[in-house]
Amino acid sequence: MSCDLEQRKIVDEAEAFVNQEIRPYVKCFEENKGIPRELIDKMAAKGYLAAALPKQYGGLELDPVYYGLFTEVFGKACTATRSLITVHTSLVGETLVRFGTEEQKNKWLPRLARGEAIGAFGLSEPDIGSDAKNIKTSWHEEDDCYVINGTKRWITFGHLADLFIIIAANKGRSTAFLVERAFPGFETKQIEGMMAARATCIAELYLNNVRVPKENVLGKINLGFEYIVSTSLDCGRYSIAWAGVAIAQEALEAMVSYSRTRTQFNEKLRSFQLIRGMIGDAVTKTHAARALALKAGELRKQKDPDAVMETTMAKYFASKVAVDVANDALQVHGGNGFLSEYPVERLYREAKVLEVIEGSSQMQQEMISSFGLQRYYKRR
Ligand SMILES: Cc1cc2nc3c(=O)[nH]c(=O)nc-3n(C[C@H](O)[C@H](O)[C@H](O)COP(=O)(O)OP(=O)(O)OC[C@H]3O[C@@H](n4cnc5c(N)ncnc54)[C@H](O)[C@@H]3O)c2cc1C
Repeated sequence: MSCDLEQRKIVDEAEAFVNQEIRPYVKCFEENKGIPRELIDKMAAKGYLAAALPKQYGGLELDPVYYGLFTEVFGKACTATRSLITVHTSLVGETLVRFGTEEQKNKWLPRLARGEAIGAFGLSEPDIGSDAKNIKTSWHEEDDCYVINGTKRWITFGHLADLFIIIAANKGRSTAFLVERAFPGFETKQIEGMMAARATCIAELYLNNVRVPKENVLGKINLGFEYIVSTSLDCGRYSIAWAGVAIAQEALEAMVSYSRTRTQFNEKLRSFQLIRGMIGDAVTKTHAARALALKAGELRKQKDPDAVMETTMAKYFASKVAVDVANDALQVHGGNGFLSEYPVERLYREAKVLEVIEGSSQMQQEMISSFGLQRYYKRR
């Protein structure tokens, strides 16, 4: 791991990169329903597709706190590139680092870091989302391989990715497989008409008798949930916590800036008490979300067993804050807030996604309350 100064420099350089290469083009990405290949290549050349991965595989090896700050930099400007980092680096890359065999790691991690292969994570299905233990995609064994059948839905970058972690079930137990786009029987179709995440190439995946070599099991047979899904979603939730902080911060800045320039009743909006109330709330909530995300990052850095629950709370809280602050930021913009020339229109749409992905807010509340019922029970 690099020292703080080096890591700070990487985050600052990433911010300059985002402001030059990404921020001005975000609307085009949405219109084109994807991000350009050249941008992915530029991100890869800077190491940004492997910011959290070990240097031996071509990563930047940022520690969790700096990786969070790095994620925020992308998330403030652009959901698509932030989502790429969430899925490609956090869900796929970090899970491979943790559970991949040496062969799997040596084969895939350098390619993921160089952007030669894009990773995606396939758990959700048309009929199964929150109740993910009951997925219908199935696997069975044949002589020299495992055969997978089923449909996956909502897979971020699924229409672009080359390598997929696919979760499939057999007799009620699930297993994770590394599935390559080139495998016969594997097809994808981009999902159209999204309110948000329009440039993230979200796809439905079709697996029709896909034969997967035995060495492509990730982790252990029948331990897909215990090993892979729980780890991937934990890494993904940490990334989404920072995506929430990012949207809240960007919306707060937009709200404050607009309130200082727009005049009504011969006064700037910022002088009206009801507007100031929204700004006060937005500042407080954004700071609180950041504090939770930073605490989760510190605990992850120390490999503290409480890191998973703190991450869940940070994800739950920061996505809620992103929705609240984006909502108030749009309110402060009045009619202009509905125009795509102002940032709050996009932030308002993108914030809502965070309350659904990587486990919905209701699922996070369930987990947090189970934890609280144990941790805070005082027999008096
Ligand atoms: C933009 C986007 C990107 C995504 N990317 C991916 C991806 O890359 N890979 C992937 O595998 N999936 C992905 N998903 C899918 C996402 O993980 C699911 O949408 C999410 O898990 C919720 O599942 P669902 O949509 O089927 O909703 P459902 O599970 O049908 O839930 C509907 C509503 O009911 C609530 N609910 C369900 N059960 C309960 C309960 N027991 N108690 C209280 N409330 C409950 C939920 O919170 C939700 O509000 C993505 C989704 C979106 C929108």
